[in-house]
Amino acid sequence: MYASPFRYHRASSIAEARQLLATNPGAKLLAGGHSLLPLMKLRLANPDVLIDIGSVAELKGITPTSDGFRIGAATTHAAIAASAELRAGCAVVAATAGRIGDPAVRNRGTIGGSLAHADPGADLPGVLVALGATIEVMGTGGTRTIPSNEFFQGLMTTALADGELVTAVNVRRLGKGEGAAYAKFAHPASRYAVIGAAACLTVEKGTCAGARVVASGLVDRPTILPSVEKALGGTRLDEAAITAASERAAEDLGGDLLGDIFASVEYRRAVAGTYVARALREAARQAS
Ligand code: FAD
Repeated sequence: MYASPFRYHRASSIAEARQLLATNPGAKLLAGGHSLLPLMKLRLANPDVLIDIGSVAELKGITPTSDGFRIGAATTHAAIAASAELRAGCAVVAATAGRIGDPAVRNRGTIGGSLAHADPGADLPGVLVALGATIEVMGTGGTRTIPSNEFFQGLMTTALADGELVTAVNVRRLGKGEGAAYAKFAHPASRYAVIGAAACLTVEKGTCAGARVVASGLVDRPTILPSVEKALGGTRLDEAAITAASERAAEDLGGDLLGDIFASVEYRRAVAGTYVARALREAARQAS
């Protein structure tokens, strides 16, 4: 199906994008187009105006900061996956981006588009919540920074207000004694996460001194698993501790698990712990 007619503007700066958003209520930003254009072709999204931010240079690139990295919103998944600096300082972000979709999706899709679209099966949101990343947004009211665990508010729903755009994502550099990993059961066609698990662990004197564990693909947004985190605290992160903790994953997922023709609610609930354990094992290996 063809998309409904729309007007197209190509912004050349953040200021121009903001001004176009302010003067065209109901307009949609277009970044890589890999989520928006399919929705438009299905006529599930029918914006009158598209504002293309895909060539705004100031929204692109990865810059080292005092404690980590600032990733511009229009940076593609492929550029993130290829970043030597990220691979050295926060490898889980680069590795996760490198597992999104296929080369065509990674060459066009952007981190800002993935966050704003907030698909529950997207890979980067859960990883960013596990890392405690922050998201910079800009609108007519100015600039604000949103903690990633407050950004995702429901199925394809975020904390972005009307007229706001994501400008960048800040992730920290992992230090000695820290490890972070992401495990997913990828849908065989799209590679979206049917089940995703991200873990960020801190080890001090041989035991777990900090854990952030997040599930994706299972409910409407990335979900922190406090029972798993609590069970890990103070353990030596050996196989027995990881298995015991990961078995608690289902306790934190509540009663609203997603289910579809490919993976039922019961299947996702039963298998979630397996992927949590895989992420924990790799994060523990890095942290030790
Ligand atoms: P667009 O499609 O351009 O925009 C998506 C939405 O975000 C729109 O509503 C748009 O207005 C808004 N938006 C875009 N940029 C901004 C911004 N800076 N500020 C505010 N709003 C903004 N994702 C995964 O995580 N894992 C996968 O395995 C995966 N597989 C895929 C397979 C296929 C075949 C396809 C088509 C997509 C897949 N994706 C997957 C999604 C992919 O990562 C998309 O690129 C991403 O979800 C959206 O990024 P985009 O830049 O294409 O955004």
